[in-house]
Amino acid sequence: MRLSRRVTAIEESATLAVSEKARVLRARGIDVAALVAGEPDFDTPENIKAAAVEAIRAGFTKYTPTSGIPELRAAIAEKLQRDNGLQVSPEAVLVSCGAKHSIYNFFHATCEEGDEVLIPAPYWVSYPEQVKSCGAVPVVLPTREEEDWKVRPEALARALTPRTRAFVLNSPSNPTGTVYSADELRALGAVLAGHGTLVLSDEIYEKLVYDGARHHSLAALVPELAARTVTVNGFSKAYAMTGWRLGYAAGPRPILDAMAKLQSQATSNATSVAQRAALAALTQDGPDLARMCAEFDRRRRFMVERLRQIPGLTFAVPQGAFYVFPRVSAFLGRTPAGGARPLASGTDFATALLEIGHVAGVPGEPFGAPDHIRLSYATAYETIARALDRLAAFVAGLR
Ligand code: PMP
Ligand code: GLU
Repeated sequence: MRLSRRVTAIEESATLAVSEKARVLRARGIDVAALVAGEPDFDTPENIKAAAVEAIRAGFTKYTPTSGIPELRAAIAEKLQRDNGLQVSPEAVLVSCGAKHSIYNFFHATCEEGDEVLIPAPYWVSYPEQVKSCGAVPVVLPTREEEDWKVRPEALARALTPRTRAFVLNSPSNPTGTVYSADELRALGAVLAGHGTLVLSDEIYEKLVYDGARHHSLAALVPELAARTVTVNGFSKAYAMTGWRLGYAAGPRPILDAMAKLQSQATSNATSVAQRAALAALTQDGPDLARMCAEFDRRRRFMVERLRQIPGLTFAVPQGAFYVFPRVSAFLGRTPAGGARPLASGTDFATALLEIGHVAGVPGEPFGAPDHIRLSYATAYETIARALDRLAAFVAGLR
């Protein structure tokens, strides 16, 4: 079967593929301790569910305007002003089927064949694949674990070229949990302001920050960039609404209008009922967010503490999102107890850890960091405890 070049050029989402693999193993009765999912294990808060039920009962089940219901776009514009200091009109907000869709719209509305998109590594798996899906070229900007995986302004200045169409910023970061301070963002902003590049600021983990870290929006800190920055956010992480598929983008009208035009020919509006639910999430902020965030923090501290006790593992302590991203290269060349051959790569490590140790994490390779493994703490405390016991035993058993 002849398939398009664009689809042949991309990989399936590795995070979703590993989640599915762990689910299948569990369905077969294998007791896998999974630290895979990039989704909160909490249920969607009751007030949000109630708003959706009410919307269904009231017959709010028809198409809505492509860009979203006016009340939700207005509530998002207000949220961006209140929480993020961003001045956007409701007309410059586009509601889409998840932040993943918002990002897809952005790349497809702005990138030509051959344009380069600068992506700091480690990166969320979908950025380079989406860039490739529009015929553009992902250019990786490496960062160092010893520097908390932060892009340095000098490195950014060196990496920007006349071909750079967009720069991707993701703070708090998936998979590293890195959170940039206001000063660090201003320093990057000063470099970006001197270049014509667009900026995609993916702020989906903004509410999940710990240790006193604060989230800042680049376009608010560096106003010169506002006309070239599209800010993306969504409901999946902060409100435990992954399955509802609702995200949004806001920024300069010409780009947002183009994204809306593209969406009008692809998905039309995001689900009507989910939009009403999201409106409740934004306008009736309940105690759930603080409760979930406190629990993530408790798990984060536990995981960090336990990982520190495993000789040979190194990692930058995450300050945001819900992942730890340890380096496993110290174990390469060694053979797991019950294994047939030495571990040759981080992916080998993750595979053996799953098959022999029954712990699932996501190999670092699709995040652009092949010596690492991503462990999610968006799962029950007991599962984390069991997984870390097994991980420690697995490492201790390496010969
Ligand atoms: N950005 C990042 C960094 C993510 O980890 C995710 C994963 N869910 C998304 C965007 C997309 O989220 P969603 O489509 O569920 O809104
Ligand atoms: N973003 C989450 C993750 O990284 C969910 C899966 C996905 O969409 O990639 O695991």
